[in-house]
Amino acid sequence: MSMPKALDPAPAERDFDYIVVGGGAAGCVVAARLSEDPSKRVLLIEAGPHARHPLIRMAGGFFKLHGTSRSYLFKSEPAEAANGRQMPLLQGRTLGGGTAINAMVYIRGQREDFDGWAANGCEGWSYEEVLPFFKRAENNSRLGGRLHGCNGPLRVSDNAHRHVLSSAFILAAQQTQGEDGLPTAYNHDFNGERQQGVGYYQTMCYRGERSSTFSAYIGLGKTRDNLTVWTDANVCKILFSGTRAIGVRVRMSEDDLDVFAAREVVLSAGTFMTPKLLMLSGVGPAEHLKEHGIEVILDVPGVGENYQDHLLVPVDADLKQPISLMGQDRGWRAVSNGLQWLLFRSGVLTSNVVECGGFYDLDGDGRADTQLNALAASSCGWGDPIPQVHRFSLAPLCNTCHSRGTVRLRSADPADMPKVQGNYLSGAQEVSNLIKGIRLARKIMAAPALARHIKSESLPGPGVGDSDEALEAYVRARVGTALHPAGTCAMGLGPKAVVDAQLRVHGLQGLRIADASIMPNIVRGNTAAATIMIAERAAVFINHFEQPQR
Ligand SMILES: Cc1cc2nc3c(=O)[nH]c(=O)nc-3n(C[C@H](O)[C@H](O)[C@H](O)COP(=O)(O)OP(=O)(O)OC[C@H]3O[C@@H](n4cnc5c(N)ncnc54)[C@H](O)[C@@H]3O)c2cc1C
Repeated sequence: MSMPKALDPAPAERDFDYIVVGGGAAGCVVAARLSEDPSKRVLLIEAGPHARHPLIRMAGGFFKLHGTSRSYLFKSEPAEAANGRQMPLLQGRTLGGGTAINAMVYIRGQREDFDGWAANGCEGWSYEEVLPFFKRAENNSRLGGRLHGCNGPLRVSDNAHRHVLSSAFILAAQQTQGEDGLPTAYNHDFNGERQQGVGYYQTMCYRGERSSTFSAYIGLGKTRDNLTVWTDANVCKILFSGTRAIGVRVRMSEDDLDVFAAREVVLSAGTFMTPKLLMLSGVGPAEHLKEHGIEVILDVPGVGENYQDHLLVPVDADLKQPISLMGQDRGWRAVSNGLQWLLFRSGVLTSNVVECGGFYDLDGDGRADTQLNALAASSCGWGDPIPQVHRFSLAPLCNTCHSRGTVRLRSADPADMPKVQGNYLSGAQEVSNLIKGIRLARKIMAAPALARHIKSESLPGPGVGDSDEALEAYVRARVGTALHPAGTCAMGLGPKAVVDAQLRVHGLQGLRIADASIMPNIVRGNTAAATIMIAERAAVFINHFEQPQR
């Protein structure tokens, strides 16, 4: 594995068989799998810096990277139904992408998510057909059998740290069992036969050490002569010969360099940047491209459409005792926690912060539609300063997405962030789901196991009553995204589909997409595991349905 930082590589380094754009959750998987065949020359290009950073390795360090050079942090367009607020949008920007800076929760989604994709024209994507690819990726330290893999590169394990408030939440949730007929039984495997229930999450982590797709599939120390990895290298355009992708233009420092792929270019730049890159390259809604003076290679109206995300609202409470995670990242505590992690792989730095949660069917259709995430910390906006108060937070998250948004170009300048219009809360379902979620969270906080730790509710706060009107106003004022963007280059057959069921861009040759943007409907669960499954599938498609060489 070579990593030239400087420009002007030797001419031989400009020609590859495959170029993978974006070394994130999906990109590292695709590049690693393709380069298992030593005859294939693979180039992986990542816009952000390298992943050599202790806060990436330490499970509990990730939030300190938010807002640094290893993340994109920008704002959505104003969301009318959320009081015109602009949501902070945070994404990974280093090798491993989101899996280098996320909370590592390992949830695949529900069986019906994938069966729904297949029923809507994505042949070969039913649950039973995607299951082997989840298993191929997975190296689970506790679960095996029909549903889990134990031999894959991605470490999946029970969280090494269990905060006293996590245990209190799990007990409190079970103490509400029976009320409203909610099934709040303990669930030891949210990726098993049944998603509903409460329990500890399994995480993409082992003994307090993060398993990003970079560390799991490529790794700092490994070498593979046929895999070249460039960091701090921003792809600004896909190069075409007619309708065939033949390479990409990369910006490193101030200079541009063209590199070529004899077989395929694979886009894995994520839900916001993959459609942006397609549009900058002339593939997207023709009228929009013309507005920005971009020559149209192919009019693909679906590029940048169908943007979805999960929405959440905080329900926080002040604690009687100073037992939350607040302050553990400061002063002498930070030093002693760091030493404990380094020497023994124990202590709070082995916590992923979101240690546990639950899945609930609040609309009564038999499928969970709400995820509750429990944190021994207060909630705050992504990238905002963490409030210095001892709090416990339960964030009800709407696990379905009914609003559809768009990603568009702000300008033809690759350096500009895209315009993201989420249309958050534009559908009535999310509002009513989040209102039910707040009521559920309040009920759990009042159950004995948690109530003994809680002084008073701080969010929504005693001033916000239980009426639908009061809670709706709170939801509109405080809703945020869960940072699970998906869907902007959807797979399928319809007029708004961008890729086919083998992830090839419709109407073009030599170009595939492998990342969260291809999900036609967002899964009901955190999105990294499904993205990794998509990448595993992409590598197999490329190997088995190889396009003719240029
Ligand atoms: C703070 C946070 C917490 C999260 N928590 C969880 C969780 O606990 N569990 C879970 O399952 N999911 C979680 N997620 C979501 C999960 O991380 C994403 O679903 C996943 O990373 C999406 O993978 P991707 O490959 O589509 O994109 P990414 O992982 O975002 O990868 C895209 C990569 O492409 C690079 N790139 C972009 N543009 C260019 C360009 N022009 N040239 C070169 N490179 C480029 C980016 O720098 C990035 O590295 C979280 C996300 C965030 C941000």
